[in-house]
Amino acid sequence: MAKPTGFMEYEREVPADRAPQERVSNWLEFHLHFPDEKLVQQSARCMDCGIPFCHTGELISGMASGCPVNNLIPEFNDLIYRGLWRQALDRLLKTNNFPEFTGRVCPAPCEGSCTLGINEPPVTIKNIEYSIIERGYAEGWIQPDPPEKRTGQRVAVVGSGPAGLACADQLNRAGHTVTVYERADRIGGLLMYGIPNMKLDKAIVQRRVDLMTAEGVTFVTGVEIGTDMPAAQLRDEFDAIVLTGGATKPRDLPVEGRELKGVHFAMEFLHANTKRLLDEGEEAKTRTFENGVAPQNDARFPFISAKGKHVIVIGGGDTGTDCVGTSLRHGCQSVIQFEILDRPPDARQPDNPWPEWPKIFRVDYGQEEAAALQGRDPRHYAILTKKMVGDEDGQIQEIHTVDIEWVFENGGRPQLREIPGSDKVWPAQLVLLAMGFLGPENPVLEQLGIEQDARSNAKAEYDNYATNVPGVFAAGDMRRGQSLVVWAINEGRGAAREVDRYLMGETELP
Ligand SMILES: Cc1cc2nc3c(=O)[nH]c(=O)nc-3n(C[C@H](O)[C@H](O)[C@H](O)COP(=O)(O)OP(=O)(O)OC[C@H]3O[C@@H](n4cnc5c(N)ncnc54)[C@H](O)[C@@H]3O)c2cc1C
Ligand code: SF4
Repeated sequence: MAKPTGFMEYEREVPADRAPQERVSNWLEFHLHFPDEKLVQQSARCMDCGIPFCHTGELISGMASGCPVNNLIPEFNDLIYRGLWRQALDRLLKTNNFPEFTGRVCPAPCEGSCTLGINEPPVTIKNIEYSIIERGYAEGWIQPDPPEKRTGQRVAVVGSGPAGLACADQLNRAGHTVTVYERADRIGGLLMYGIPNMKLDKAIVQRRVDLMTAEGVTFVTGVEIGTDMPAAQLRDEFDAIVLTGGATKPRDLPVEGRELKGVHFAMEFLHANTKRLLDEGEEAKTRTFENGVAPQNDARFPFISAKGKHVIVIGGGDTGTDCVGTSLRHGCQSVIQFEILDRPPDARQPDNPWPEWPKIFRVDYGQEEAAALQGRDPRHYAILTKKMVGDEDGQIQEIHTVDIEWVFENGGRPQLREIPGSDKVWPAQLVLLAMGFLGPENPVLEQLGIEQDARSNAKAEYDNYATNVPGVFAAGDMRRGQSLVVWAINEGRGAAREVDRYLMGETELP
């Protein structure tokens, strides 16, 4: 145990982010980080409790409780307290292939189930994880480490998000020859083209891809399996296939005016913006619309601009937040966000006890930035979009809404009821639909004859990952539906273990 009295002596502290007014002027990461000495003090708050829920990774009431990759949190806290950073890194890499991603973007369910969190603010686990891995890179401890022997078995991984990358990394370590196919022009899945640069700098994703390449993983971009290359070819050329294509089919909003110009799915907006940033070159990350340098209509770098527009984001989740932050960086005139559900409570409710993930009101980076620039949180809760209205050119100009309430009757599912007289009209020249995802969207499942579940995801049991087709496995969002990076890593690792067992008859992969 780090320090028996640490939790009584030290308060939880997290580093301040860059000030919203400053950070919206560029695309650099907005999180700042503590010096190592400060983290040593924070690690001393860990009680090394008898049953550390922080690393259990259980689903309770449908939400992750504890770390889904089972990071050995009390152990690395103790090592950090004792200044043993190298050993802490080794311990962290036993369970998590990519702490540099989770240390930046994970919502940290570990902290939601930290025992100290029952009556005190929890240990700052995520920041400690970030610092362990970044210190590892800075010290040169992380170097290419290719396997000593190859098994001669060939595995194709379809999709290069965190599930595909974790799976490829594990299989490569086991000595298999792995090729990752990606239909986009860059590797990383939503790490690259979903989560915006200010949350996860794309150079961090590329750093890991380069490391894996040096260790022997082959990456093929610009090839959609099932379209550019028939899935049958993979069957011929590989001994096993892992499908990690994500759940990228967006939920639509079938209201009058949906077809108007200026109404887009969130991912069209986010993907094009990151591609533009990367295609323009590294210095584009520090160029802003405010100073007029970034091109508005440069055909070489097409994207959807929010500059000078009233933007409405429909959907209150992570994707919506990223649309808010991106719109502000474009220099939008205003941005607001609609959420159909009620505003969450400020504190845990009796039906949401520890160690469940706390379902409480949170202010994420995009809302913090909008509040700083516009004077109020951009979110409007319990609001329903009725129609969209455009001008004579078919360009959206207005959204019409009505307030709603959720009615609980006869113990059934809550019913939505419109509140008479609450109709409103909102100016809007750009509308971004961020209402979640419905499942996988590509033909590879059909070509391979993969059974799908009721939500259209690839059907395979958690922890087994085998589909109905022998030798074909599925993991990540493609199997479980849109989720979290940390679950994708968990599933990618698990699928690798099962592929190894399938190929070799036994496995030592965790
Ligand atoms: C905007 C946004 C923000 C998010 N922010 C966070 C966050 O902050 N924290 C967090 O934990 N989670 C976040 N998530 C969720 C998280 O990104 C996903 O759960 C995670 O990336 C899923 O990983 P995956 O590997 O299963 O799939 P993906 O990351 O979706 O990767 C799948 C890849 O497969 C490729 N592909 C699909 N079909 C084929 C094919 N037939 N051939 C070749 N390639 C194919 C796709 O192009 C894609 O690159 C966010 C999601 C979105 C949309
Ligand atoms: S991966 Fe996420 S849940 Fe696990 S320790 Fe890191 S921040 Fe916590």
